[in-house]
Amino acid sequence: MNPLTQKFTTKHDTAPFSKIKTEDFMPAFTEGIEKARKEIDAIANNPEAPTFENTIAAMSYSGENLDRISSIFFNLHSAETDDDIQKIAQEVSPLLSEFGNDIRLNATLFKRVKAVYNQKESLSLTPEQTTLLDKQYKSFSRNGANLPEDKKNKLREIDKELSRLSLQFGENVLSETHAFQLHITDEKDLAGLPEGAIEAAKELAASLEKDGWAFTLDYPSYIPFVTYADNRELRKKMVLAFGAKGFQKNEFDNEAIVLQIVKLRHERAKLLGYASHANFVLEERMAENPDKVKSFLNDLLAKAKPAAQKEFAELTAFAKELDGIDKLEKWDGAYYSEKLKQKLFNLDDEKLKPYFKLENVLNGAFTVAGKLFGLTFEEVKDIDVYHKDVTTYEVKDENGDLVAVFYADFFPRKGKRNGAWMTSFKPQYVIDGVNERPHVSIVCNFTKPTGSKPSLLTFNEVTTLFHEFGHALHGMLANTIYPSLSGTSVYWDFVELPSQVMENWCYEPEALALFAHHYQTNEIIPIEYIKKIKESASFQEGMSTLRQLSFGLLDMGWHSEDPNHITSLKDFETQQFAATTLYPDVKENAMSTAFSHIFQGGYSSGYYSYKWAEVLDADAFEVFQEKGIFDKETATRFKEFVLSKGGTEHPMELYKRFRGQEPKPDALLKRAGLLVD
Ligand SMILES: [Zn+2]
Repeated sequence: MNPLTQKFTTKHDTAPFSKIKTEDFMPAFTEGIEKARKEIDAIANNPEAPTFENTIAAMSYSGENLDRISSIFFNLHSAETDDDIQKIAQEVSPLLSEFGNDIRLNATLFKRVKAVYNQKESLSLTPEQTTLLDKQYKSFSRNGANLPEDKKNKLREIDKELSRLSLQFGENVLSETHAFQLHITDEKDLAGLPEGAIEAAKELAASLEKDGWAFTLDYPSYIPFVTYADNRELRKKMVLAFGAKGFQKNEFDNEAIVLQIVKLRHERAKLLGYASHANFVLEERMAENPDKVKSFLNDLLAKAKPAAQKEFAELTAFAKELDGIDKLEKWDGAYYSEKLKQKLFNLDDEKLKPYFKLENVLNGAFTVAGKLFGLTFEEVKDIDVYHKDVTTYEVKDENGDLVAVFYADFFPRKGKRNGAWMTSFKPQYVIDGVNERPHVSIVCNFTKPTGSKPSLLTFNEVTTLFHEFGHALHGMLANTIYPSLSGTSVYWDFVELPSQVMENWCYEPEALALFAHHYQTNEIIPIEYIKKIKESASFQEGMSTLRQLSFGLLDMGWHSEDPNHITSLKDFETQQFAATTLYPDVKENAMSTAFSHIFQGGYSSGYYSYKWAEVLDADAFEVFQEKGIFDKETATRFKEFVLSKGGTEHPMELYKRFRGQEPKPDALLKRAGLLVD
């Protein structure tokens, strides 16, 4: 008996981890795919005329079993993996993507979806149903379902070529990253570096059978070096090597690949009837189109630039005063910024950590959720977990009804990937009148408690916990009908609103008083620490805003116009960066040839969304600041119009219902201290 293919008989229908064996997954996947395929075939070949219910709704509910198995498996793959799980992932991933492609290319099925779509106006659908119909229709049309056969083939060719090029791009970046090493044999050259970085460099050198110390272009090695190393020439060497990745006219050069990628993306968009790749991507984003994104970025740029220039002048003066540097270069930025920050704030993580014992911070998040949304969290021991470090909670509302099952998995271990994330084992949805409640999890990598010391968080980890908890609330408070529109299934540039908005409570004395107590003395965190935390959070915000905007504008530059006239990558970048540059240009360096976000990962035409989300969260939190950070009415509106609604309507509509107007950048500019007068 395979526990994955049976109906779970566990508490709240939770995953029966203790009964699942690794070897159960592959047969369960095979059976799940087969079952889902049959469900899809039954919908496609239904002899009855296509209706919303027998086609669109039926598709939304199909493959439920496969989705459960997949989420259990891929969550383990991220948080508790081993060689066997890795092997299964390699085996099953192509099967799953093949199944997904088969659905998207199923012409019989598309005919039915299109028939329903064409009657849209006369069906008196709810807004949620309309959204579901649009979403399903577009999942076909955006993959070429409406094209004649020859153009369909062309599209497949382009897609194949694009995935080959992205892969090649990534491999080149990796090769270039590994090709460089800074090898140090004179201890004097380590001056300024923190102990940890020196130790790691020594270990690295030893592993390469070299004397001394080795530094690489990998972030954990590169960042400390350029931030702390006193030797300016060596910082320069590192920065130049970093910026030359993929731009050295060697076998790993990415210039031609970048130009090919943007041209193919443009051709693909045109084929599908869009003006540009950015138009194609942004159709399914809150920002809607490139004009809106560009005016968003340029508006912020106009407002942030004076602050950035002022900060740059201050930094230049500081470097001059400290070391007699006449002209601030790229390899000086991180170094003098860190020195200036130390001078201004002298805010040490070690001073803050005793106030942020993990259990207190988690209870703080629970208390905030209680005050805002009436939720209670009770730890329970009778729900199965995949590792003994995982804790489970029943989350209930004011009436004592179950809202969600919440899992928390906080400590690093072998088999768990880096970083922090929210995920779910089961989405929320309504079927046959029953509201199925979700199973939501947050996974982090915080310092483990020891025999003598509890887990004490850095302030950065505190905001990380609140961030992931915000995503979790989005999942837990979901209240939609169809699973594919539930919780965090929203447009990409909207998904960080619930998470980022929660971080704001970490800076509020009224909220910190609830949980930031010294773990030994129980003393509440001193107000001057909170002041320093806030001030240091907006340190050099102008410069970092300008940097983010420059990436967003470059991304838009590549993707919102016809790229066929572009012949030189460097010339094009120079143009795109004209308005955002502070440091002197380095002509041997380029950004795009190693800009993996947009040429390897899925962020093309999406880089703006980091800033977009910040504008949203600051704008939303401003209401709480005006009405009180625990104002029940505001919180209820946020829950009602944002958190519970998932992707059931266009995010701008949802947001306006909560806020009364479209988001404005003013609150962010104020919070970031960018309003220069
Ligand atoms: Zn997030």
